[in-house]
Amino acid sequence: MTTNLDETHDPALTSWVESANDPATDFPIQNLPLGRFRRTADSDWSIGVAIGDQLLDLRRAGLVASTDMSLLMHADAGSRRALRRAISLALRKGSDRSDSLRSSLLAQSEVEMGLPCRIGDYTDFYTGIYHATNVGKQFRPDNPLLPNYKWIPIGYHGRASSIGVSPQLFRRPLGQFKRPDDKAPSFGPTQRLDYELELGAFIGTPNAIGEPVAMDDAEEHIFGLVLFNDWTARDVQAWEYQPLGPFLSKNFASTVSPWIVTLEALAPFRTPFSRPDGDPQPLPYLDSPANRETGGIAIALQVALRTAAMTKAETPPQRLMGSNFRDSYWTLAQLVVHHTVNGCNLQSGDLFGSGTQSGPDPGQGGSLLELTNGGKQPLVLANGETRAFLEDGDTVIMYGYCERSGFRRIGFGECAGTVLPARETY
Ligand code: MN
Repeated sequence: MTTNLDETHDPALTSWVESANDPATDFPIQNLPLGRFRRTADSDWSIGVAIGDQLLDLRRAGLVASTDMSLLMHADAGSRRALRRAISLALRKGSDRSDSLRSSLLAQSEVEMGLPCRIGDYTDFYTGIYHATNVGKQFRPDNPLLPNYKWIPIGYHGRASSIGVSPQLFRRPLGQFKRPDDKAPSFGPTQRLDYELELGAFIGTPNAIGEPVAMDDAEEHIFGLVLFNDWTARDVQAWEYQPLGPFLSKNFASTVSPWIVTLEALAPFRTPFSRPDGDPQPLPYLDSPANRETGGIAIALQVALRTAAMTKAETPPQRLMGSNFRDSYWTLAQLVVHHTVNGCNLQSGDLFGSGTQSGPDPGQGGSLLELTNGGKQPLVLANGETRAFLEDGDTVIMYGYCERSGFRRIGFGECAGTVLPARETY
């Protein structure tokens, strides 16, 4: 099970890579997230594991035979756990390999990170019930939460080709939108560009077509998690979303963080899954004792904004909100089971978005749409600027970390993206 604790989670472990022992690092030896990097634009991609502010080239270190992340992702969960243990042993203080491995170590600041793998199919879910309610109120004031929400993990099939890795730059998209009082739609750069704070889950081992995954096996199919920004053009969304759901309002860009934090690394931070009093219990195919006991994961999530003016003034990004993935209405296992219940096959490198993770309080909206009440109450930033929606030059940075007493804090690094001006001619 991915909830099992073993020696790799021991909070007393330290590494011979000194920066990994800094209490503030996201990447202590208890984390060991995997990513794809290259030294220069001309060199080949390799698989690395983040350790402090360094990374270890896994093939050079003799810990994997290939530079193909999809092979690692495809492997069964037992091999994944064996690799985690081997990396942990190699990086531990006192390891007899520390001298020979130093030549496989590189500073993270000196490499380019790529997408962790070739992303196959991308599905975005809607597991944040506070987000679903807040957004539902703006689109349908009388009927915010549709009746299926508490029964089905709602999702839609998105587009993988425009998913990029942090730090991603993208142009403000063009699109069609209709202002409430206008008779006809307009065309041009979106006026209501937003972000969505999500987690991404990469599928590891596939399931065969026609073979649904059961709750007890579901997590074995998840390789690990990243931070995920599902950029959204709200005006385009409002005009296009009926009857078939999101389309061009979403598929111009999405950003993942470069390091996949494995489910094994997240084992100490599991939480029970329960439903509030009065809410329906999940149907039997979405329920299991293990899911009730440890189906959730406590991951603190944050969004910060650095405007062009802040970049120019060299002021740090301003934190806008924080929430926690433990408040998700559905667990990762339930997403895998529901997605495959009709026989749909998941493949290594497929990506699930969790849906926007807003918290229960008004200041915990996981998008500007929520934090500004649909743009009606712009945020006033510390430097006096205001934001209803994103402006050109804005950089949105997402963070995630797990903390629990008795365990080492681990983090996800950053997921950053910057809005460039729209094309000038259209
Ligand atoms: Mn989304």
